[in-house]
Amino acid sequence: IEMVNINELEEYLKNNLIEKRFNHVLRVRDMAKDLAKHYGMDEDKAEIAALGHDIAKNMKIDELKRIINENNIILTEDEEKTPELWHAMVAPIICRSVFKIEDEEVLGAMRWHTTGKANMTSLEKLIYIADMIELGRNFPGVEELRKYAFEDLDKGVLHGLTHSIKYLLDKNLLININSIEARNSLIMENK
Ligand code: FE
Ligand code: FE
Repeated sequence: IEMVNINELEEYLKNNLIEKRFNHVLRVRDMAKDLAKHYGMDEDKAEIAALGHDIAKNMKIDELKRIINENNIILTEDEEKTPELWHAMVAPIICRSVFKIEDEEVLGAMRWHTTGKANMTSLEKLIYIADMIELGRNFPGVEELRKYAFEDLDKGVLHGLTHSIKYLLDKNLLININSIEARNSLIMENK
């Protein structure tokens, strides 16, 4: 992996995230490294992707929208109405421009951490589930998700997607098509 100054990245996060979010990011980093070690994956890539994933989480909505427009990202009609997804689109843009992170797999893991997508790479799966099961999370079922994630990454992500889709269904919220496609592709891959 290219040179990334982890200390500078952490410093940026400390200055641009509220404390609660910053602590979440550090816990995602710990969980991502644990999972990477467990599966013999690149721990440095996991660390950088984890640190970057919520880098834009506390940006103002207008600022996120401006960056999305400036980078010619086309939002679907439902994405226009789901600002919760925007920080994931902006994270790789900031990490590329400010921290010169060029690794497409690392940037992809940041980009897809909220919704997932069809045919995710191992690192994309790892960050998706690390975000959900970091040790500060305490929703019903999280213990089971942690167990699955260390048993089999695909099983962890599949159940993670099921959990979050169920949540959105129960709340009558929009479900991004990428989450459905992520889940369908995992089911097909493992058939
Ligand atoms: Fe996020
Ligand atoms: Fe997060």
